[in-house]
Amino acid sequence: MTAVSRPSNPGTSVSPESPVESLAGIGPRRAAALKSRGIVTALDCVFHLPFRYEDWRSLCEPRALEPGMTATLAGTLRRSSEGMMPRVGYGRRMVTGRLLVGNEAVRLVWFNLPTYLARLIPFGRTAIVHGKVSAAPDEELQIVNPAFHVADSSPAPALRPVYGLPSAVGQRLFSELVRKLLRDLDPKAVEAIPRALRRAAGLFETIEALRYLHCPPASADLSELCEARSEAHHLLALEELFAFELAMQLDRRRAQAKPGFAFSPSSSLSSALLASLPFSLTGAQQRVIREIDADVTVGRPMNRLLVGDVGSGKTVVALWAAMRAVESGRQAAVMAPTELLAEQHHRAFQKYGAGLGVPCALLTSGVGAAARAQCLRDLARGRISLVFGTHALIQRSVAIANLGLAVIDEQHRFGVFDRARLKALGPNAHMLLMTATPIPRSLALVLFANLDVSFLDEMPPARWHVATRMVAESDFETVERLARDKVRDGGRAYFVLPAIGEDEETADERAGMPTVAAMARRLARGALGDLKIGVLHGRMAGAQRQAMMRNFREGKLDVLVATTMVEVGIDVPEASAMVIIDAHRYGLAQLHQLRGRVGRSDLKAECVLVVPEDLDPKARARLAVLLDCSDGAEVARADLELRGPGDLLGSRQSGALPLRFARFVGSVELIAKARAMAEQLLASPSGIRGPEASGARQALKRMLRHGFGLADVG
Ligand code: ADP
Ligand code: MG
Repeated sequence: MTAVSRPSNPGTSVSPESPVESLAGIGPRRAAALKSRGIVTALDCVFHLPFRYEDWRSLCEPRALEPGMTATLAGTLRRSSEGMMPRVGYGRRMVTGRLLVGNEAVRLVWFNLPTYLARLIPFGRTAIVHGKVSAAPDEELQIVNPAFHVADSSPAPALRPVYGLPSAVGQRLFSELVRKLLRDLDPKAVEAIPRALRRAAGLFETIEALRYLHCPPASADLSELCEARSEAHHLLALEELFAFELAMQLDRRRAQAKPGFAFSPSSSLSSALLASLPFSLTGAQQRVIREIDADVTVGRPMNRLLVGDVGSGKTVVALWAAMRAVESGRQAAVMAPTELLAEQHHRAFQKYGAGLGVPCALLTSGVGAAARAQCLRDLARGRISLVFGTHALIQRSVAIANLGLAVIDEQHRFGVFDRARLKALGPNAHMLLMTATPIPRSLALVLFANLDVSFLDEMPPARWHVATRMVAESDFETVERLARDKVRDGGRAYFVLPAIGEDEETADERAGMPTVAAMARRLARGALGDLKIGVLHGRMAGAQRQAMMRNFREGKLDVLVATTMVEVGIDVPEASAMVIIDAHRYGLAQLHQLRGRVGRSDLKAECVLVVPEDLDPKARARLAVLLDCSDGAEVARADLELRGPGDLLGSRQSGALPLRFARFVGSVELIAKARAMAEQLLASPSGIRGPEASGARQALKRMLRHGFGLADVG
């Protein structure tokens, strides 16, 4: 990378933590505006990158102008005869002028210009102007609201940064401010990775990267800059990932230093549970159980993430772990993101653990007040050994006498604070997090470096591969036929839609989104009229939802028309058709999750992705990944190739990580590199405390401020 070289002048005048109001040109009003955008300190300013660049490099001839193009021209500014016209409201003017280029002229118009700015237009001077060309009503070409640069004041701009800024802060002001900061800040203050590590890795100075991005040289590659894939962007991503991995590893160390308790070796309940299962465990389930057993018997709190594709059988692993807690005289809590899922876990335990005599309960917002009060009392006194619940478990009124194990199912659905609150119910308890996020192993290991990770990478046997196809909306008959055939063969069908829509008048339907309500009506009126059809969505009351789910499970309904509420973990073995309407609206991972709702018994299952005929080829190609591939890890890999890991890094799938730069260029290799560097720093004699790690400490602090809560886990 060839950054603009500047005499390195490590000024000491500005501290990286200086608040914005202390910087030149920033008064209280502008400071407040910047803070509202999360720009609080000098360092925040220099890490606020332009979101695009104006290209001022090639000058245009007036005769080459065409409407619609963005052009840069050099010439002399002249005020037009119309001059300044105080026409447009108080304190604002319309100003017209001309740029004389040789013996040609181009009309310039500034609409609605504040008077004080209008006075600043350097009429009479030689200038470069830049703006969009359009045809005026009289058909003469003009440039409306052009930006200008007086040619003799400073070197002509080449690529001009454009920032996302509050209206109180002008582009020029901010870019000047950043320019000054990049001159005055100590280069070490903007670097997270200490100098010795940088030298070993051959990295250039971060301040050079920042200068390159804020004031790119004329030789810079504009498309690289705009797509955030320059070397400078890579360096910022590496720095950010370094701070992230550092935070993760510090977190892991802190968790490991905590006291924990060892579960007893006795295994009466846990073995009895396994013996009562109507199937034998897969090899992967057995291996994961051994991994967990090793964790919970050493006297340190376990922090383990269980990654397993939909249907890989995570629930029995969780129930087994819960029995390990109970047979050791402790309580266990299993938290799930939805009521349906919590109920399902509760029911699974009642089925498999029926003979164990373990007192268990369900705690969700749908549980009645009296039952709830009783449950809270019993939990607090230790009379309930195993509780299943939703967010209701982490309300202030909940206390658990002797929590030994906390399980979080679909953990990516919860925020850091939710996890911390569950953990707070038993500070020394073991934690088991579970997720079906199809995430490649390599990425999981670096992203969750603060946890031990287990992979449930084998599906239970005798599962039908879920045949998947794409069908055009116009061919809906095929879909109806499929649903009918499946029901005839003893199965049930899901129809999933993107919106609810309770009556003809809802906004959803007007906006053209297919809705649950409309689909239910359509099916009932059409070829499925004699089948029993139910609906399920988030606007229904809890009790109503439960009744609907129960009816579907028990076969009183043949078809369930629903929103993506059914996505998370629902287990109805007889379901054998999954119809997803407007499938192109969902991510591959989510579609794979939905598909995982069927093919859970020995009924042959099918999944149909219904799409508009005119779906564009790119979207079609993306969906086609699912047609050929039924393995979550492979879907994840394909998704990763199509979208790049940045999407995973930035998405809710990985719990909304506080990564700004790595989202665009982060690769598995870059994360691994960052991780290795973080390990090296922590292994050095002074670790994170030494003077050479001051930049790393700053970066950690900023990462915390930008929303990375360091709870014990996740
Ligand atoms: P997930 O990992 O998606 O949470 P579940 O725990 O819901 O998957 O399991 C899916 C289904 O597979 C359940 O009906 C469960 O009873 C069944 N199952 C789990 N383990 C096995 C196994 N080893 N053999 C056969 N079926 C199993
Ligand atoms: Mg599950």
